[in-house]
Amino acid sequence: MSEPFDLAVVGGGLLGLAHALAAARSGRRVVVIDRDARANGASVRMPGVIGVTGHPAGAAWRRAMRSRDLWLEVAAQAGVRVEHEGLAIVARRPEAAALAEAFLATDMGADCALYGEGDAHALFPQFKGEIAGVFWSPHELRVEARTASARIAAWLAEAHDVAFQWETAVSAIEGTRLATSRGVVEAAATVVCAGDDFRSLFGERLAGANLARAKSHMMRVRYDEGFELPGAVASDLSLIRLPGFAELAESEALAARLAAEQPEHLAQGVTLVVAQSADDSLVVGASRQIEATPDPYQIQAIDDLILDELAAVFGKRPKHVLSRWTGTYAYSADRALVIDAPAPNIRVVVAASGAGASSAFAVGEETIAELFGR
Ligand SMILES: Cc1cc2nc3c(=O)[nH]c(=O)nc-3n(C[C@H](O)[C@H](O)[C@H](O)COP(=O)(O)OP(=O)(O)OC[C@H]3O[C@@H](n4cnc5c(N)ncnc54)[C@H](O)[C@@H]3O)c2cc1C
Repeated sequence: MSEPFDLAVVGGGLLGLAHALAAARSGRRVVVIDRDARANGASVRMPGVIGVTGHPAGAAWRRAMRSRDLWLEVAAQAGVRVEHEGLAIVARRPEAAALAEAFLATDMGADCALYGEGDAHALFPQFKGEIAGVFWSPHELRVEARTASARIAAWLAEAHDVAFQWETAVSAIEGTRLATSRGVVEAAATVVCAGDDFRSLFGERLAGANLARAKSHMMRVRYDEGFELPGAVASDLSLIRLPGFAELAESEALAARLAAEQPEHLAQGVTLVVAQSADDSLVVGASRQIEATPDPYQIQAIDDLILDELAAVFGKRPKHVLSRWTGTYAYSADRALVIDAPAPNIRVVVAASGAGASSAFAVGEETIAELFGR
């Protein structure tokens, strides 16, 4: 049996690391247990865009903003490079520009801007397709997701004395005892952040939470002619998906036009997200297929839809597709966050939207404050 901990966190993805940080910062002895040799789930497969604009208005938007601030702190301390800041949403159609303008009038639009066609071309020469305007949000960050989790884990171990048990699967949690593939771990409290495995631990309790799995296609591409992105990039398709925009009445006209003009993109859940890496390559996504068990295939026709949207914004397709991958995350149509309390000292936390990495650090802070009492 190992030494007793104040908190065990099951899952070494970003959500688990966020909980470990919040508990360690409040002086608790923490162990993170993950069945893999390193984080290999959604947290390393996402594009690395830490988003604020687009979260639902109100508490969710404020949580995203708080989480973004925590991300900035963590990135600086853990040695995670912020590749770029801000988000440019390219409005390809007047309906998209009108929706962006309506968003600007909300509280969430306070620090954002909308550039009309002429200004947009002058300010953002990278966008060579036909555009009606560019919406700019200064809030977003971009980190390299494929390495960020490992850096944060190493920093937690070094600077916060968090213990890590990798290649260790947790099979049951009862009271203060966690049964693992390497023996029993004792912890006064446990937080389960098992990502899209919501069936193994406390699966019977989560069965009613209407959870499924969302699968996304991603690619890393390179254009021959290098250019620097102003920040992350999205397009019309994102505006009708992101709740902060989609909840506005002006989204209806855009949704109707997209349904007529890009039905295949909508059928495959394609929205454009583009982020740049230090070597100038671009990480590009994403599709969304929601099923109990998504298939494992990266279908060329879906990649083509993503690349077509990329070409519509940048004027042409990239010459090189350097790598392709899929990722899955937990998804609920009802709630962005599912939190269950199977016992007074146990919490199960499932990020159930495609935005769990963005809000992770604020969610960690909230759960730990609630679990241990403020
Ligand atoms: C392609 C893609 C694009 C995305 N885009 C965005 C985006 O733009 N913005 C955003 O904010 N979010 C995005 N997301 C969602 C985001 O990545 C997830 O919400 C977030 O990373 C979830 O973190 P997690 O720690 O809960 O899960 P994961 O990163 O999946 O980690 C879960 C961990 O739990 C471990 N585990 C599970 N069960 C056990 C067990 N029984 N014992 C031990 N270990 C266990 C797994 O090994 C895994 O390491 C995207 C996701 C994908 C896949």
